[in-house]
Amino acid sequence: MSSYRSQFTREANFGLARRLMVVLSSVILLGAIAVLSISVFVQKQMIEDRLNMNAIHLASLIKEVSIPAILRNDPASLDVFFEELESRSDIVSVSIVDPEGWLWKSGGAEAAAWLAPVDDPFLREAIVAQEPRQTLGENYLHRAGPIAVAGDVIGFLNLRVARAPIEQELRGLWVSTAAISIACVIVGPLIAWVIARRLSEPLLRLQEASRRVASGDFSHRIESHSNDEFGLVAQSFNNMLDELHSSFLETKRVAYEDKLTGVPNRSWLSLQIENLTKRTDPEDQFAALFLDVDRFKEVNDTHGHHVGDMLLRAFTERLRNQMQELGLKPTGVRVHKKQGLLFEQGEALLSRLGGDEFTILVDGGKSQDLARSIVAAMEKPFALDGLNLKVSTSIGIALFPDHATSREHLLKCADVAMYQAKNDVRGTFAVYDRDKHKELLARSQMEKDIDRAVANDEFELFLQPKFDVASEELVGVEALIRWNHPERGFVRPDDFLPVTAAMGLMPRVGQIMVGKAIRVAAEINQGRGKPITMAVNIASEELLAPGFADRLKSQLEDNSLDPRLLEVEITEGTAMEQNDLVEHNIDLLRELGVKLAVDDFGVGYSNLGRLKTLAFDTLKIDRGLIMDVATDDAARGLFQTVVDMAKVLHADVVSEGVETPEQLAFLQERGVQTYQGYYGGRPMPLGEFKQLVVESDSQNRPAEVLKLVS
Ligand code: C2E
Ligand code: CA
Ligand code: CA
Repeated sequence: MSSYRSQFTREANFGLARRLMVVLSSVILLGAIAVLSISVFVQKQMIEDRLNMNAIHLASLIKEVSIPAILRNDPASLDVFFEELESRSDIVSVSIVDPEGWLWKSGGAEAAAWLAPVDDPFLREAIVAQEPRQTLGENYLHRAGPIAVAGDVIGFLNLRVARAPIEQELRGLWVSTAAISIACVIVGPLIAWVIARRLSEPLLRLQEASRRVASGDFSHRIESHSNDEFGLVAQSFNNMLDELHSSFLETKRVAYEDKLTGVPNRSWLSLQIENLTKRTDPEDQFAALFLDVDRFKEVNDTHGHHVGDMLLRAFTERLRNQMQELGLKPTGVRVHKKQGLLFEQGEALLSRLGGDEFTILVDGGKSQDLARSIVAAMEKPFALDGLNLKVSTSIGIALFPDHATSREHLLKCADVAMYQAKNDVRGTFAVYDRDKHKELLARSQMEKDIDRAVANDEFELFLQPKFDVASEELVGVEALIRWNHPERGFVRPDDFLPVTAAMGLMPRVGQIMVGKAIRVAAEINQGRGKPITMAVNIASEELLAPGFADRLKSQLEDNSLDPRLLEVEITEGTAMEQNDLVEHNIDLLRELGVKLAVDDFGVGYSNLGRLKTLAFDTLKIDRGLIMDVATDDAARGLFQTVVDMAKVLHADVVSEGVETPEQLAFLQERGVQTYQGYYGGRPMPLGEFKQLVVESDSQNRPAEVLKLVS
């Protein structure tokens, strides 16, 4: 309480107290001035009154004593009396004149000056008027008046009463009044300040209490034991605080708790991470586990939200149990301020971010053990609503401060790690890996780029010629896709087709390429004697896409291309898929009349029986098989075996990847029909290819020209 008191004394500016002080001081000052001026005025009055009274009193005394002497005309009998009068300090002069104004008896300090009436005009006035006259001079009060006995004026009394003695007497009174007033002026503001402070202090305490409450400190109470107005206000204020506090706690709980599962929600988690990331001790490493329920959407869609909700509650319960089994105490929403930070007694914070996403903040050293045990625990099915639901979880772990130092970044890293865990076949939890994250980012950038490329038609057709091995004549061409990337230039298919396929865009992109290839084939074969076949690569996703054969058919018809001039290349892997749909679609193609080729033959494990069933027209021997034939006997033997196999299957052979004259010579020896490779020509844009066609038509040995082109 004492510290609180000193604090508010420091902080309050006492505006009210100061105003009160000014008012009170002014009142005191004005009061003092008023008292002073009144006392001056009153004093003047008092002097006059006293002088008056003195004069009247003296006059009547003198008259009383003098009358017998005047009647006897015996001034000498008054000598003693007048001597006495003269000795008095309050009498300036006293004299008695006869009715005509001649001096009869005189006394007082200045009496000698008054010998004749003519010398005193004031006395003469009284004589003429036969009435008393009185005037107040600067130093004395002058009174002249008749002395009468039974109505007869027997003389006049001329008396001057001194002012000084009375003034002297009253000065003491005046000095004390002034002193009191001055004291009031000096001490008044001090007293005013004390009074003002006493009056305003309760208000300041109230104000201070309000300030604390406003800053979130609901524990503060105003101390007051008095029963006065302030005591009542303090009591009401404290009651109000009690109510406010409990409703605040309730609001906080509602705001930070997830309704469905009862664990803290995303907002609470954010606050806690924010607090944790502020700690700077290197020992304070902690981990964020990001997890979700695999295939939760399926459960929701199949069994309804009611079961989904039940699953989330049961899932939460299992998470809690796993934490407790590892000696970790799951903390709830802490409604009271300044409660200890997490992990103090092996605590961990489980929260639900929303949907099926959860987060656990835990000591860094325990994160992997916890993740492992959660993954294992979720393998057991959930018995809910008569169902036996089998779900699993994927967990991503990110460490503070190793992987991220800010709240958003830490959660992002944990999320990315979870994504990695989902892609990783080996486990269902993964610790954040910066390199993998970079790959992921590059991939998502590529996905965006591919979307744009599809929309902008950035894919182009490159064409690689195929030649007859014996005559080296141009006999066919293979259409190969190139991505004309606005920044990277021409991108090879191996760099983007896997992503395109994963995005499910392969059928769409393939359709565009096949369309372009058919148009080109129709164009170059227009009016030709010896046809040039067009080979197109078809991925299994394209082949299996509904309506593939129908679309191909209409594309052929639209361009009036003889189907026999189109060769569909299917990889050995696709061809070997033991899939009825593959077989069915290959049959449809055969019905169309297009040629069928097995691409990259010789590297997979082909089933001869199946190859026979599918009845391919061409086997394209993979580049890997021709590579070493010049130097390696075993390679030559292998190559020969594949050629023999093709013969058995009645298929033509195209040897891919021919790069040297030696390889070509080897093919000529073995009676292979067709070759393709850099020796004959690299994949090229359409313009170049058209030129090549023209040149090869006009020359006897086109292969020589082609070599220049490549
Ligand atoms: P692929 O069908 O085996 O095509 C032959 C690949 O070998 C081409 O690579 C070609 O440039 C390359 N090549 C040709 N001759 C030589 C040579 O003498 N030496 C060497 N080292 N390489 C040679 P490219 O164009 O990068 O295509 C790669 C693969 O992408 C293709 O392999 C094919 O499977 C796929 N692809 C290309 N275009 C398309 C398309 O339009 N649709 C589909 N579905 N796949 C395509
Ligand atoms: Ca091919
Ligand atoms: Ca190939």
